[in-house]
Amino acid sequence: MELSVISSKEDDIVFRISGVTPAFVNSLRRTILCDVPILAIHEVMFFENESPMHDEIVAHRLGLIPLTTPPGKYVSPELCDCGSELGCAKCRVSLLLDVTGTENRSTTVYSSDLKSEDPEVQPVSAKIPITKLGPKKRLKLEAYARLGVGSAHAKWQPAATVSYKFQPKVTVSQGCDACGRCVAACPQKILKVQGGRLYVSDVDLCTVCKECARACPKTPAAIVPETVRDEFIFFLHSTGSLPPAEIMRQAARILEEKAGKVCKAVGG
Ligand SMILES: [Zn+2]
Repeated sequence: MELSVISSKEDDIVFRISGVTPAFVNSLRRTILCDVPILAIHEVMFFENESPMHDEIVAHRLGLIPLTTPPGKYVSPELCDCGSELGCAKCRVSLLLDVTGTENRSTTVYSSDLKSEDPEVQPVSAKIPITKLGPKKRLKLEAYARLGVGSAHAKWQPAATVSYKFQPKVTVSQGCDACGRCVAACPQKILKVQGGRLYVSDVDLCTVCKECARACPKTPAAIVPETVRDEFIFFLHSTGSLPPAEIMRQAARILEEKAGKVCKAVGG
C-alpha cells in the first residue's frame, strides 16, 4: 500500500492511496463516519426559556453545534471509572448560556454565547444561530457535552464530507494528430494542445465521462480515459472538531484494533 498527500489544509485533506481494494477504502470511510469519537452536547438543563422555541428544539440545535475536541483528554462516559450518570470532569464538559434580549429589539443567540468550562472545548464557529429572543426575554441553560460516535447519532460525526473516487488515467495513443476536438469536448477543461501534441493538464480532475473519446474522429479513439482499479483519491473534510490528520490517525487505529480482534478470534 502506498499513500501520498495531495493537499492538506486546516479542515481538509486529500490523499492518493494505491495497492488497496475498494472494500478497504470504504472501511476507512465508514470508520471515520461511524467510529471516531468527538464531543457534542447531549444533555441540556433549562433554567429559563422565553424564546419562541420549545426546550427540545433548542436542545437539538445545541447538539448539532460542532465542538473542538482535544484528542485523548476525555473518555466516553461508558468507559469512565466515575460510573456516575451525571458524569465527571473526565467524561463531561459543561457549557453555560445566559442571554437576555435587549430593551426594544429582538436578539439572536449565537454559538459564541456558550461559555465552556474547558477553554479547549469551544464551538467551532462563533456565528451559528441558536434561537431568537424578544425584547427583555431570557434564555438560560447549562449544556453537557460528552464523547460519542457517529453510529449513535450524526452529531458525533467528525467529518462533514468523506468520500473517494477511483484514480482516473488518460492514455493518448500514437495515432493522435492533435486535432483538438477532444479539448473542446472535455467538460473539465483538462486537455490542451501544445506544440502539435495533446496534453492532459490535471488527470485527477477527470471524471471519466468519456466525452473526449466520443469526440475523437479516429477509430478506435486515440484517447482512452479509464480508472485504475486499485488506486483511489480520498477526500476528507472535517467539521472542525478534530484536525483531518487526527481523524485519519484515530480511524486507522480503530481499524487496526478491529482487525486484531478478528485475528485473535480465529487464533491468529
Ligand atoms: Zn466520568
